[in-house]
Amino acid sequence: MANDNKLQNIIAHCKEYGFIFQSSEIYDGLAAVYDYGQYGAELKKNIRDYWWRSMTQMHDNIVGIDAAIFMHPTVWKASGHVDNFSDPMIDNKDSKKRYRVDHLIEAHAETLAKEDAEALLQKMDSLLAENDFAGLKALIEDNKIKCAVSGTGNWTDVRQFNLMFSTEMGSVADDADKVYLRPETAQGIFVNFLNVQKSGRMKIPFGIAQTGKAFRNEIVARGFIFRMREFEQMEMQFFVRPGTQKEWYEYWKDTRMKWHLSLGIPADHYRFHDHVKLAHYADAACDIEYDFPMGFKEVEGVHSRTDFDLKAHQEYSGKKLTYFDTEINQHYVPYVIETSIGLDRAVMMVLSEAYAEEDLSTAEKQDSRVVLKLPPKVAPIKLAILPLLKKDGLPEIARELLEECRTYFKCFYEEKDTIGKRYRRQDAIGTPFCVTIDHQTKEDQTVTIRYRDTMTQERIPIASVKELVMQAIQAF
Ligand code: ATP
Repeated sequence: MANDNKLQNIIAHCKEYGFIFQSSEIYDGLAAVYDYGQYGAELKKNIRDYWWRSMTQMHDNIVGIDAAIFMHPTVWKASGHVDNFSDPMIDNKDSKKRYRVDHLIEAHAETLAKEDAEALLQKMDSLLAENDFAGLKALIEDNKIKCAVSGTGNWTDVRQFNLMFSTEMGSVADDADKVYLRPETAQGIFVNFLNVQKSGRMKIPFGIAQTGKAFRNEIVARGFIFRMREFEQMEMQFFVRPGTQKEWYEYWKDTRMKWHLSLGIPADHYRFHDHVKLAHYADAACDIEYDFPMGFKEVEGVHSRTDFDLKAHQEYSGKKLTYFDTEINQHYVPYVIETSIGLDRAVMMVLSEAYAEEDLSTAEKQDSRVVLKLPPKVAPIKLAILPLLKKDGLPEIARELLEECRTYFKCFYEEKDTIGKRYRRQDAIGTPFCVTIDHQTKEDQTVTIRYRDTMTQERIPIASVKELVMQAIQAF
């Protein structure tokens, strides 16, 4: 399966089986905004919960919070987002289409021979680093880069485009009431640093975790749920004593990679990408990249953010944000290691890894299936309970099993259609276990359990079903 096709097939599968829909689809959709359907919402929630518990339950020194999306506008001045959170962009005057300059040049580089492409990208990087917008426009013109829609090279000047969405708070729409939809969840953690530290009597090193929506007016939003305008982040800020940040940075790189591998994804589907050009707040940073259908791309960032954020909030708010370290008898502004993963990107990663089209043809007949080999701990449905027939007391036994299991994990009950069709539907939504109740169940209290990945079946006592599933979905 070509990778381009793979992405298209995953998108189609997600729609057909109730995982992910285009937002406002009946109105032709809203670009780069998506809705999660009945199975997608479960999958997303399970990944969120798995991350949340790995942070707050499996570490003594990490607590979780839930800060508001709206924050005081000065927060975004202090964080640098008002001045720096922007991308250079350019418009084609004929098509009116807007491009991110780096994406436009990168797309052109892909059409060139390797050496020419490298030279072009190097030139672009140095112009971007110098914020040389006239130079970037000249580079586009010199290389005769055309708009894909109009086919012309009739470009506007290059301008900065801030990625934050704003709205007004209160009844009068003047500038004073302008508030932003947060472009990251991290700042809600920084401004609550002292609240949490004091109320929780937290001792450094300690972390604050949070999951929640973030909004970015991405200019070129593409790649399904890879780059959205409304998305969800799972971030953790780990506050450490200045001077110890290097070792904690290494610790969190390692710990986060272990989390990824614990999803059953092979190590060679991941790689680290160390940042050479560091953001204004960082003294070390890397991305964890996953091999998506469109190639290796960032799924998570690990950043050593120094004391930049707390110091900036201290300065802008006029409130002290220091910590008294009783071990060394010193007051200081802590340093921070951040781990920041996009929940939607994690969903896309898990789906990309799980999606398989299998040819099951034999000499006698052609057959195939689409299966989502999701890790049981994040699968939307853990167990399908399927009475073979709608009569002879089989549904009653099946419903008894359902009642026994449903308080522990999510089950699915179905009586309609042949058993083969029911299995295939469960394969398509990634249900790891199906049990069938048949006439033999009435005699010896056993059921047939069918394993999704191998499609093998065996008979086990009905009394052991719950325990078997519980063991498979145990997260830690
Ligand atoms: P990119 O370079 O892909 O734009 P970024 O470096 O700006 O990402 P961060 O600001 O470090 O991303 O955000 C942390 C994480 O949030 C990313 O690793 C990614 O998983 C997720 N993320 C960022 N922007 C988006 C988006 N537009 N849609 C979905 N997820 C996103």
